[in-house]
Parts: sequence; C-alpha cells; structure tokens
Amino acid sequence: MPQTRFHSVRLEKDKCRGCTNCLKRCPTEAIRVRGGRAHIIDERCIDCGMCIKVCNYHAKVAVTDPLSSISRYKYKIALPAPSLYGQFGGVRNISQILNGLKQMGFDDVFEVARGADVVSQAIRDRLKNPDLPRPVISSACPAFVRLIQVRFPSLVDNIVDVRQPMEVAAMMAKREFARKNNVREKDIGCFFITPCPAKMTAIRHPIGHEKSAVDGAISVLEIYGLLSSQLRKAPIDPSLETATDLGVGWARNGGESYAVCPENSMSVDGIMNCIHVLEEIEDDRLQGLEFFEGAACTGGCVGGPLNFENSYVARASIHRLATRNPSDDLNVDSGTMTKYDLYNSESIHPKKVMMLDEDMEKAVAKMEKIDEVLASLPGYDCGSCGSPTCRTFAEDIVQGNATMMDCIHKMKERIRIMAQQMVDLAETTRE
Ligand code: SF4
Ligand code: SF4
Repeated sequence: MPQTRFHSVRLEKDKCRGCTNCLKRCPTEAIRVRGGRAHIIDERCIDCGMCIKVCNYHAKVAVTDPLSSISRYKYKIALPAPSLYGQFGGVRNISQILNGLKQMGFDDVFEVARGADVVSQAIRDRLKNPDLPRPVISSACPAFVRLIQVRFPSLVDNIVDVRQPMEVAAMMAKREFARKNNVREKDIGCFFITPCPAKMTAIRHPIGHEKSAVDGAISVLEIYGLLSSQLRKAPIDPSLETATDLGVGWARNGGESYAVCPENSMSVDGIMNCIHVLEEIEDDRLQGLEFFEGAACTGGCVGGPLNFENSYVARASIHRLATRNPSDDLNVDSGTMTKYDLYNSESIHPKKVMMLDEDMEKAVAKMEKIDEVLASLPGYDCGSCGSPTCRTFAEDIVQGNATMMDCIHKMKERIRIMAQQMVDLAETTRE
C-alpha cells in the first residue's frame, strides 16, 4: 500500500519474523501479519512507537534525522526536550547538558522547557474561557492527539488549540538568535532532540498548522554517546538555563497538568490507559474535570522509545530537577504571549480511517456481513490469522484483505471435514 503521509515508524521487512508480538499491542489495530511478515496500515498508524518497544527482532524502527543534517544550515540551534535532562542521572546542573550540546557543533541551544512555560501560560489563559468544551485536552503528545483523531472523533473539539512546546521554542529560538547576531532567520536551523518518533512525524506532518518551525529531529539515542563524553568537560553556565522548574517538569507525565491546572486535572500515561480514560470521557462519566493530559508513553516523555535511560530512573532525575524552586510562576511576560503564533491556524479533524465505507448504506451492509462472519469464528482473538482480533479479521475478510482460510482454526475444521468426507467416500465405494 503506498504511503499517504510521512511516518517515522517503519518496518524493516527482512528482520521481521512474523512472530505477531507487535500485532496485539498496536493501539489503533494498524498492524497485520500476512505471508510471514508484518505490515503497517499507513492511515491507522499514529507513530506511537509501541511496536518498536515490543519487537525483539528490531524489525520496527524510527526514522529521524542524523546529527550530520545540521550542516544544512549556516546557524544551528539545538532544542533539547526536557526529558533529555533525565538521561544523565549524575548531572545536577542543566546548563552542563546545554553546554555539552553546544560543544557538539550547535551554535546555540534553546530549552524546549522554556517553550513549555509559554505553552502552559497559553493553556492557563484558554482555561479561563468557560465556553470551551470540558475537559480541555492537552495537545502536547502528537501520538495521543492522533489517537483521538483516529479513535475518538467526538473529542477532537476538546483538544486545546495551543501549539506544542517544541514549536514555540523553535519560534523563540530563531527570533532571539537572529536579533542577537543580526542574521536572517532563514539561515537558522532548529533541531529538536527527540525522545520519540511521534515528534518527528509531527515536524514533517504538523497537526493544527501547515508548517513546522522545527527543521529536524535527532533522536536522543543518536547523540547520547557523544553528549555523555562532552559532559565531563562542559562548563556550568546558569545563563543558558531559561526555563522554570514547571517547564522542566513537562518531561514526566503529570508535569503539564501541574503547570496549567493543578487543582482539577487528570494525567494518564501509556496509550492503553489513555484509551480507557478517553472512553470514560466520551461516555460523559468524568463530569467536572477541567483538564486532561494524556501521554502515549509510560511515564510521559521520559518513557519515549528513543531515550537511553530507564524511564523510572529518568523520571526520578526529572523529579529532582523540577522541584528545586517550588513556585507556580511561569515567568512569562505579556509581550511574549503576543509576539509569537502560539495557537493553531488550522482545525484538528477526525480521521475516518476506521470507516467501513464512504457510502453509509454500503457501510451498514458491511457491518452486517462482519457480524455474520464474526459469528462463524472461534472468538479466541489469538492473532494467528494475522489480524489482532477475530473482529478485525472478520473486517479484513469483508474488505477483501484476508480469506477465511487465514484462520488456522477454520483451516483445521475444513481439513477435518474433508478427511471425513474422504472416509465416507471410501466406505461408499467399498460397499
Ligand atoms: S514483533 Fe512484529 S515486526 Fe517484530 S518480528 Fe514480530 S511480527 Fe515482525
Ligand atoms: S507505531 Fe503505534 S500505531 Fe503505528 S503500527 Fe506501531 S504500534 Fe501501531
């Protein structure tokens, strides 16, 4: 199937053993295993990276930019995700990490945690509007937002229209660097140091606006070794640190809620947990909730598949860094709030990828056929047919993407019937 949009998560076909491990863990039922190999249904994939985590054969990979790609720009700025600070447990001073990045070849570094401060202020302002549907839902994790687009279309309007911290950080970094150094913004490249593939996809294919202000994404894994070696000689320079502890706290799940609405919010991590709570919200069972923060990865961004450090260790490090100066002051002035495009320029729409047919009549007929096929299946949801559940298998059959004989249990039943028929035939012939 040709790709309709950029995906960071890819399958390396030659490495896939068709083990079906990934099949059942995909939150959007985007994987099928047929002909002994997995394939990803492009429109359904939200680039959450779950399949990367569970594949023991490293057949699922994330495509990000190599460090060498920064040379495309005259001036290069690193945008470290706050979760990067949790990768080096022994480092107590963030400016050492920031200086380490500069020593790797960047002309400057700008904290995405500072972008998170500004985004927090923008969401605080939005929450003052009683007309927005409740709960207001975070737009920070692109995999989570795409999950809502694909599986919870009725909640799309609850997603807050504020851009992600990396976008705001890139706009601020370019503007400030250009002004300070009297250079053109178009000569500056901003590279996000990413903990996850979903951010890479969000840069190439933004949600809520046409073009990303970020010029590339380099994975934490790609730079980890080099940055570790730089840290030993990186000087401490507190002037590089511009973010508050609240912004740094965004690295772990709950940090955003704490920054924007600590009294009446809920934060959930792990894509399956998010699905369960979104179902509750969809059914109107969480009335009175003001703000909801969901993160596809366990623990939030510290649990991203492109990180190096164990997510629990990283979370503990972030907790230490985010509680140095307890305060609810985001340190964002009103000028900053008006100087940048903090809000989406396009609406976020549901994705109709789960629809059976554009034509409603045909869709209903297909639904009936699916129920009929499903009733004839064993209901084990074993995945041996190459579809994640018996229901998705029935759907694949009706859509012409599988045959009944892909089900090993139906195949066995057919063989048993055929064998019996042959025995009966042999006996009839003998008589
Ligand atoms: S987990 Fe998925 S991608 Fe990895 S080998 Fe098994 S079927 Fe293939
Ligand atoms: S990245 Fe996530 S949504 Fe895409 S195929 Fe893998 S598990 Fe499914």
